[in-house]
Amino acid sequence: MKAESVRVRYAPSPTGYPHIGNIRTALFNWLFARHTGGRFIVRIEDTDQSRKVQGAVEAILDSLRWLGMDWDEGPGVGGDYGSYFQSERRDLYQQYAQQLLEGGQAYKCYCSSDRLTQMRAVMAERKESVRSYDRRCRDLSPAEQAQVETQGVAPVIRFKVPLDGQTTFHDLIRGDITFNNSELDDLVLLKSDGYPTYHLANIVDDHFMKVSHVMRADEWLSSTPRHVLLYGAFGWEAPLYAHLPMILGPDKSKLSKRHGATSVIEYRDTGYVPEAVVNFLALLGWALDDKTEIMSRDDLIKYFSLERISKTAAIFSQEKLYWMNGVYLRQIVEKQGFGEFARRALPFLELGLPDTAKRPIDQEYVNRIAPLMYERVNLLSELAERSGFFFVEELDYDAESLVVKGMDKEKAITSLKMCWERLEDCSFDHDALEGVLRSLTEELGLKTGSLFGLIRVAVTGRTASPPLFETMAVLGKDRCLGRIGAAIARLRGSGGL
Ligand code: GLU
Repeated sequence: MKAESVRVRYAPSPTGYPHIGNIRTALFNWLFARHTGGRFIVRIEDTDQSRKVQGAVEAILDSLRWLGMDWDEGPGVGGDYGSYFQSERRDLYQQYAQQLLEGGQAYKCYCSSDRLTQMRAVMAERKESVRSYDRRCRDLSPAEQAQVETQGVAPVIRFKVPLDGQTTFHDLIRGDITFNNSELDDLVLLKSDGYPTYHLANIVDDHFMKVSHVMRADEWLSSTPRHVLLYGAFGWEAPLYAHLPMILGPDKSKLSKRHGATSVIEYRDTGYVPEAVVNFLALLGWALDDKTEIMSRDDLIKYFSLERISKTAAIFSQEKLYWMNGVYLRQIVEKQGFGEFARRALPFLELGLPDTAKRPIDQEYVNRIAPLMYERVNLLSELAERSGFFFVEELDYDAESLVVKGMDKEKAITSLKMCWERLEDCSFDHDALEGVLRSLTEELGLKTGSLFGLIRVAVTGRTASPPLFETMAVLGKDRCLGRIGAAIARLRGSGGL
């Protein structure tokens, strides 16, 4: 088939919160649609009632929204080929299962699940290769059928897979792929509860939704010959296929939580920014060349192509994503300014700062802190811990850390006292603070590192912080003097030192 206009779909099953690997599939479809000017469809494959998870559909849609993957047809936006929930399309699947039944390409199977379990156990015992079904009902005579029907057994409908021959299809990434029909089982199309299986619903929908390209994870590769046979049985043209490479952990085993890979929502909630996640996911199995790592959404759309999707598995690296997030945080500042960085940081501060911080957090104040902090974090969630001293009144630290290298307790007390006096009349901007404190260093006969280190601990409670004078300017005179006073008291009270 030659696709005239690109129509691709992301067809998640709402069986849990979408995993990062699953969203990679969505992204590749979305990028392809946007690159070609085609349509991106979201279809919810919710026919497996037993595996449905409450809230999963919303989590899937939230993940797409957060990453900026808008859909042209699907939940919430509708479209000409809806419903986009398979559970609302049951009549259609029943009708088409019936059509194959009447055409002799499908049959009713009355075998109970107990019988199937037993059958598989016998196959295993005989060391035969275990097949899911031995085709016992495939050739029941009408009389035999009538006889089981009297027992009131609700049948499933199975597809009559050709017993011999081969099925070949072309995969846009892997080339021609051939399966022996003898290796394929007579798959179930319609279950006894009237719900379709994935296979039937998936191809009926792809056909009626006019899907041009099926791009999905390569774990579905073994289903494709079955789908191609089904298209043939209906007399429909199959879409083009592109099976996306697997994603493995750095240890080359299947990607899992163990490798740090979790749901997209969790990435959002730990302070990853969508720009970084999109860039990172795009490079899981696709690349512009052998060196480009940072690519904007617009460039990804511009350059995305099926030809550059790799045949070999992609390796997921949590460290790379962490690094990339830092790059994007800096980029947000460069391109959109500190205000935007602060706006994004705000919810993480609200959530992560200690209870003693004054709430609601003041956006203006965060704007002033942003220039001091944005290069010091890779995740927005790291801000709360690293910049807490800007927000709380009382600092929590050990008196010992005030006695920095090059001075004893008494010297530290004298130094802080003099510092307090000098700062009382000092205007709190970078240059004035620097002037006053540098000359104080000379007066005290201390190294700048020692005095500044002491003041740093006194005003931030930490031995490492953003540049001292800027930090003090943001904290303001009252707070700094108060903290220096508290440090003196702390030293005096610490008898053991
Ligand atoms: N519902 C399937 C899934 O969750 C869709 C597979 C396909 O794209 O055909 O992955």
